[in-house]
Amino acid sequence: MLKKDKAVCLRKADYSETSQVVTLFTRSHGKISAMAKGAKRAKSSFDGPIEIFSYGDIVFAESSSQKLSTLTEFHQKPIFLGLRNRLYNLNCALFSVELVEKFTHEYDPHPELFDSTVNFLADVQHFKTDLEALSLLVIFQLTLLNDFGTKPVLNACTNCKTEFNENWRAVFFSSMGNGLVCQDCEAAYADKIRLSKNTAACLSDLRRISQADERTANEIEKILVYHFTELLGKPPRMAKHFVKR
Ligand SMILES: [Zn+2]
Repeated sequence: MLKKDKAVCLRKADYSETSQVVTLFTRSHGKISAMAKGAKRAKSSFDGPIEIFSYGDIVFAESSSQKLSTLTEFHQKPIFLGLRNRLYNLNCALFSVELVEKFTHEYDPHPELFDSTVNFLADVQHFKTDLEALSLLVIFQLTLLNDFGTKPVLNACTNCKTEFNENWRAVFFSSMGNGLVCQDCEAAYADKIRLSKNTAACLSDLRRISQADERTANEIEKILVYHFTELLGKPPRMAKHFVKR
């Protein structure tokens, strides 16, 4: 049975001279892997080769046996073309789709995350500075964790629940504990890393992230990269572009 949905391409690979295998994030069916026969032909029902960030309306046939679905149509809307105009923005976008690809399971719909992803890609393509793009990436990454029910505890110690305030002598983040850790509890968390108070203050009040300075935004991203690395068991591919400074 043919199904219709909206989709954004997370990954693509050539299958033959004319065909592609694509991983799509769809709004109502979650992530799907599909064969797009003839997608690289000049005339096809896919509006040309499918690229990462290709977005639009699709028609596909779900496979019955856990194998590849078959993509029959892809009406592409070229709304993310600006992503390739600025390398840093492009890297943020690639990082976002990599995380979506790694955290989602096939046929497990996350419509809110789909909307957040599309909005993120639409916004990040217009930024003129690295800092603006990075701040939005941080917010997207926290949204993603939230969507999977693993929102880190960022306004209090994850262990003793003491609310974060400026009087804390030291503040840490633990991936194992999934949140901030205070000076009295830090001994129990072998994986903790120390944060500056500025960074902790920003994390504890997300409205401040968009006003964070470059150093703080980079420190937050470093913590998130560390956290994603722990959750995934290895560093995300795009992480190297965000932790070198
Ligand atoms: Zn504590």
